[in-house]
Amino acid sequence: MKPLDQISKEDLSKIKMIVFDVDGVLVPRGTKIKQVGNTTTLQTKVIAEKQIEQISELNRRGYLINISSGRGLYMLQEMFRDILPFVSLTYENGSATWYRGKIYQHVNSFEYLKDVFPKLKKLASENKDIRGFEPKEFIITLHCKKQIKEIEEIVKKYPKLTTFWNGEAYDVELKKDQTKAVGLRHVMKVFKLKRENVMAIGDNYNDQELVKESGMSVSADKTRVKAKFYVPLEGEFLPADVLMQKILSF
Ligand SMILES: [Mg+2]
Repeated sequence: MKPLDQISKEDLSKIKMIVFDVDGVLVPRGTKIKQVGNTTTLQTKVIAEKQIEQISELNRRGYLINISSGRGLYMLQEMFRDILPFVSLTYENGSATWYRGKIYQHVNSFEYLKDVFPKLKKLASENKDIRGFEPKEFIITLHCKKQIKEIEEIVKKYPKLTTFWNGEAYDVELKKDQTKAVGLRHVMKVFKLKRENVMAIGDNYNDQELVKESGMSVSADKTRVKAKFYVPLEGEFLPADVLMQKILSF
């Protein structure tokens, strides 16, 4: 892996689309959630004006922008409201993509998640370390105070499903079919792009496949994601800020 300041204008010559993970890349890590009975409270990070400006400038220079996140569509639309005309939103770990009001569904998980859901719901009502469910359409996201073995045990009984603890929540989803890499493959088809036309940046384990799928991979946390280039973690700017500053410097 090379530090990002070694990226050259030549490296960028074929790049037509830049794919951004959200948490830990465009905003600081962490979504706060609280569920009391049937009331769910979500506290979300907003994207800074500076990043909105940088994305707008990338767009003016002719780059396509794709946002790839585990978050739900409603939340991404709210975060990127000012720049919705020119960003595509791939949500719930590659499950679907929204672009200019049209939704491209990449996977149908209903049959596979419908049976596990009541079991997790029951567990959540009994376990105080489970904060609550984040509203999602295609995956199940359970926010927890800590890692909870019972969740992992329940999911293990369904061979088609997988889950993993990311430090604040569990995403329960289809193995192999609900990943950011699958989402990116569909997005490349929609925009008629090849791998070499795509640059992707991510910071967490579920971004490894995403960045590998792109021709130009950038890691925002080299302890978790291996890539061609990396952005140093310590620093006053968010990883996406550093990357955009670099691209816009050419
Ligand atoms: Mg992230």
